[in-house]
Amino acid sequence: MPDKKVGPRHLLKKLRELMAVNLEPQERLDKIVREIAAIMVAEVCSLYALRADGVLELYATEGLNPGAVHTASLKLGQGLVGTIAASARPLNLQDAQKHPAFAYLPEVGEEAYHSFLGVPVLRAGRTLGVLVVQNKTMRNYLDDEVEALETTAMVIAEMIASGELVRLTRPGLELDLTRPVRIDGLPFNDGIGLGHVVLHEPRIVVTNLFNEDSEQEIARLEKALGSLRVSIDDMLSRREVAFEGEHRAVLETYRMFANDRGWVRRLEEAIRNGLTAEAAVEKVQSDMRARMQNMTDPYLRERMSDFDDLANRLLRQLLGRGAEDIAHSLPKDAIIVARTMGAAELLDYPREKLRGLVLEDGAATSHVVIVARAMGIAVVGQVKGAVSMSENGDEIIVDGDEGVTHLRPQPDLEKAYVEKVRFRARRQQHYRELRDSPSETRDGVKIDLLMNAGLMVDLPQLAESGAAGIGLFRTELQFMVASTFPRAEAQEQFYRSVIEAVEGKSVTFRTIDIGGDKVLPYFKNARQEENPALGWRAIRLTLDRPGLLKTQVRALLKAAGGRELKLMLPMVTELGEIHQAREIIDAEVRHLSKHAHLLPTVLKLGAMVEVPAMLWQLDELMATVDFVSVGSNDLFQFVMATDRGNTTLANRFDPLSVPFLRTLKAIADAGHRNNVPVTLCGELAGKPISAMALMGLGYHSISMSPASIGPVKAMMRELPLGELTAFMNDNLEGHSAGLPMRALLQGFADERGIPL
Ligand code: PEP
Ligand code: MG
Repeated sequence: MPDKKVGPRHLLKKLRELMAVNLEPQERLDKIVREIAAIMVAEVCSLYALRADGVLELYATEGLNPGAVHTASLKLGQGLVGTIAASARPLNLQDAQKHPAFAYLPEVGEEAYHSFLGVPVLRAGRTLGVLVVQNKTMRNYLDDEVEALETTAMVIAEMIASGELVRLTRPGLELDLTRPVRIDGLPFNDGIGLGHVVLHEPRIVVTNLFNEDSEQEIARLEKALGSLRVSIDDMLSRREVAFEGEHRAVLETYRMFANDRGWVRRLEEAIRNGLTAEAAVEKVQSDMRARMQNMTDPYLRERMSDFDDLANRLLRQLLGRGAEDIAHSLPKDAIIVARTMGAAELLDYPREKLRGLVLEDGAATSHVVIVARAMGIAVVGQVKGAVSMSENGDEIIVDGDEGVTHLRPQPDLEKAYVEKVRFRARRQQHYRELRDSPSETRDGVKIDLLMNAGLMVDLPQLAESGAAGIGLFRTELQFMVASTFPRAEAQEQFYRSVIEAVEGKSVTFRTIDIGGDKVLPYFKNARQEENPALGWRAIRLTLDRPGLLKTQVRALLKAAGGRELKLMLPMVTELGEIHQAREIIDAEVRHLSKHAHLLPTVLKLGAMVEVPAMLWQLDELMATVDFVSVGSNDLFQFVMATDRGNTTLANRFDPLSVPFLRTLKAIADAGHRNNVPVTLCGELAGKPISAMALMGLGYHSISMSPASIGPVKAMMRELPLGELTAFMNDNLEGHSAGLPMRALLQGFADERGIPL
């Protein structure tokens, strides 16, 4: 039994020499296993690579039957090698043949060998293969030897990832690195994106693996760790006051990790074994990730992601790299893959090159998703493992309709998607052709199709979609994508740009609607709310913080100087709130006119109907305001007592059910009765079948996402509205619990060839 201490440094030095010379891949692998065997005084050294079909194939060996190379194989989980690959943990055995997982492969000829040390070949937490040494004697491999073999495995992992071994594969038996993967997530925005992966925070590829001088490398590591700690402390102190809750907790965790002695010790050990500081970070991280990959505890998984993030930051410190210049290196069909990202970060990417967004985390209501919707790109969220499974440049399909992501898709799947995209393009072409046709039903009733917006990136869609104007401008989005409250000047400037961009079409600005699910990270609600949807939000909040409302109203009045201004109040519960808001508006008007500012030519004040209490004071409401807009998203959640963000309940109750349709009809009727314009601006307006129902209820103006204008218009152009109105009246009045309304409406459309 060799008791000489194996020097990993010596091993790495040899490897470095072998990597530097020009050799055929197989020759290089053969030499590598020979050197490892020699230096570790082992009779056998073998490398198994994981194929896409889940089989570990013998790629090179010193000591076993050379004829078994590329023929001997084990399934993932089978035998010792398969066990190591499946568990991503090393196995160190004095007598391998006694191990319950030992599998006898006659072709390799390993009967004579007893002791066995195998380590996984890992990269970014993924197993790419297994590296094994064996001896005839029953010996125990020392910790140093395990460490040395793991370090060697890391170099081999880089070699596999660099594509060098691809030339050794046969068709149908490709390496796992190229395996197609389907990951199911949640659909956050419709659309299909075909393109190439762009990792949002690109995993830094460490090319400089071997160090010249360990002490010098440790000093580099210390310095980088120091800067990392300072930057975290800095983030924490800067946000001391306004920055509470989740983000703060994450930063606290970072600080704890950055000072974690165990982590630092493992990094130093890897450097002492001959790696550069950055390669050490990569190795330690990869080991940890692989070990934690089977963890189910969501808390610990989340912490692992934090650790990943931290390791990436440390790598950036070591390489002195700031945010890269992404715009230039971006492919023209980029699909951004991120664990999570801020809304502003998404806006840094050039829109014309974006085809989709894949998020490991995130919610449908997160800011980045709101922005992605405004940009009109397909989004799939909760795609677990997306970041570690993909490499920059991999082919990828994002199916935002189904909530599915296909990484490295097979050609036939890709073909099917290309066909789908073509079909959509043809439909889009049809919608574009409809754009300039009159906005009327088949029987000549004029209906205004408006669009919802909230950011500058939305505005080009006004002309593209052919919308008659903006029926709902969600001003809170500007606040949500910012990192502090936008100042008065910034608000004014923003509103002015919007008004100029709509070129004379009408735009209805809604005063900030924050609270509920719309949170501003820099604005702290002192109380934790049990039911934020029923809590301190929208008009309630702005009336309690009148400074907010005054600033916004003043900015809007100034921006709309010389033009019409339409202002709308969200979540009104009692008429007194409208009176209070009007007083604030009037005071601002007086103030501006006193200072000789140009005022809007007309000021129209409207209210949203979103709270059921309004339903029993509709006539009084109509007498108080100039126009009304139904927020069907909120109204539906309150009428049906169903949280709009709860995915479990998402399709449980139908907005096209009799009670909700009657609710909507009562509002439209009150508008007609009082001669006050009524619009509806929730998601209902954007689906052709529900848009048709709304028209049948008497809505002559609806506001929706711009992508819905085309399909709704196509429906409307075929709609005999008179007939539908009679049909709906009959069915709503004497509804005899026969077919559900949705089915009746579908039948009505099908019989008349109305495209839904
Ligand atoms: C609504 O509630 O329907 C609405 C349009 O407002 P938001 O979705 O912004 O709450
Ligand atoms: Mg609402």
